[in-house]
Amino acid sequence: MTGNHRQPEVNIGLVGHVDHGKTTLVQALSGEWTDQHSEEMKRGISIRLGYADATFRRCPGMDAPEGYTVEETCPDGGESEVLRTVSFVDAPGHETLMATMLSGASMMDGAVLLVAANEPVPQAQTAEHLMALDIIGIENIVIAQNKVDLVDADRARENYREIQEFVEGTVAEGAPVVPISAQQEVNMDLLIGAIEEHIPTPERADGDDARMQVARSFDINRPGTTFDGLTGGVLGGSLTQGRLRVGDDLEIRPGRRVEDGGQAEYQPVSTSVRSLQAGGATVDEVTPGGLLGVGTGLDPSLTKGDSLAGQVAGPPGSLPPTWEQFTMDVELLDRLVGSEEDIDPVNTGEPLMLTVGTATTVGAVTSAREGECEVKLKRPVCAEPGAKIAINRRVGTRWRLIGIGTLTE
Ligand code: GDP
Ligand code: MG
Repeated sequence: MTGNHRQPEVNIGLVGHVDHGKTTLVQALSGEWTDQHSEEMKRGISIRLGYADATFRRCPGMDAPEGYTVEETCPDGGESEVLRTVSFVDAPGHETLMATMLSGASMMDGAVLLVAANEPVPQAQTAEHLMALDIIGIENIVIAQNKVDLVDADRARENYREIQEFVEGTVAEGAPVVPISAQQEVNMDLLIGAIEEHIPTPERADGDDARMQVARSFDINRPGTTFDGLTGGVLGGSLTQGRLRVGDDLEIRPGRRVEDGGQAEYQPVSTSVRSLQAGGATVDEVTPGGLLGVGTGLDPSLTKGDSLAGQVAGPPGSLPPTWEQFTMDVELLDRLVGSEEDIDPVNTGEPLMLTVGTATTVGAVTSAREGECEVKLKRPVCAEPGAKIAINRRVGTRWRLIGIGTLTE
C-alpha cells in the first residue's frame, strides 16, 4: 500500500465557475493512483460528485511553504513526510446542478474557491457557490486565483483586487488568495500550505453513533448475475460522525416507499454492513472523512439507480426523525444571485425545491407567513430539528436559490 491509500480525514469542496479549473486542480493534487478493488464503486460515486483523495506531504529540511508537496520524493532526493490525506469533492459548475453542489456542500469541512484570473469577477457560479458556502456555514475557505499563466502581472493584481472586493462581507472575507496555475502546477506548495493552515481537520467526538449521509446508491451486479452470485446493494456517501465497522447493524431512513391500499408511506430499512471501502481500499472500519462505499445485505433492487440517495444511515434507533411535512424559519436573500432582481416573499401553494443534507425534494408550501412557512414534501427527509435547508424557487426555466431555511418542527 502506498501513502495514497490512507483514509482521508477531511473533505474539501472544490467550488467555482465552470471551466475555472476545478477538475484540473484536483488532478494536479491527487496525482496518480489506481485502484483495482473499488473501480466500479468509485466510478459510480464520481459521476455526480467527482472526488479524489490527495496525500499532503512535506519535505524535511525545507522551509514552509516550499516544502509542501504531493510528491513522495523531495528535490534533494530524500523522502517526504506524510502530513494528512484529504478528500476533494469536485462540485460541478453547471448552474442546473446547483442542487448537487448544495447536497455535496453538506459533506464539506472546508472549501477551495477557484477563480480564473483571466475573467471578470464574479462569474455567475462563483457568486452562487460562495452563497451556498455561506448558507451551509462553511467558514474554512481558501481562494485559489487560477490560470495566472494566462495574464500579465497588472491584470493579475487587478483581478486580485476584484476578488478581495467580491468576498468582502461574505464568509470568505479574510480567506487567503493564492495565485496558481493548476495546469502548469505552479504554486501548488503555497496552496497546500494555505489549505493546511486554513482548513484544519475537524475535531470529532469519540463515541458518537455513526451517521452516514447517503449521496448515492447502486446495484453493482452485472446484468444476468444469478441469485447465488448477487452482491448486496451498495451505499456511497460520507460519515459525518462516529465510526462504522464491518458487521454493524444499520438502519436507513426515511427508507423505502411502500404502498398500502393506495396510500404510500416510507418505512425504515434495516440491514448490516457487509463490506467497507474508503481511501481506495477495502477496510474493516471507517471514521469521518472522504467518501465511502458501504456494501450491505440489502436487495440490490432497493439501492439501484440512486434510489436511496439523500437518506441517512446509522445504528438502529439512533437516527433523526423522518419528516413528510415541516415548518421552517425562512431567511430570503436580498436578491437573486448574480442579478438585480428582487425576491418576492414565499407564497402559499407554490412549489419549492429544498435541499436538506444530501436530500433534494420538492415541497409544496401549505402556509406562508412572514419569516416562516410550512411545506408538504413530495419525498420525506430524515433530519434533525435545526437543520439548514437551501430554498430554491423556479424562476424562468430553472431553479434559483432564494434563501435559507431552518427546520423548526
Ligand atoms: P472546471 O470546469 O472548473 O472543472 O474546469 P477544468 O479543470 O475542466 O478546466 C477548464 C479548462 O481550463 C481546461 O481546458 C483546462 O486545461 C484549463 N485550465 C485549467 N487550469 C488552467 C491553468 O492554470 N492555466 C491554463 N492556461 N489553463 C487551465
Ligand atoms: Mg470540472
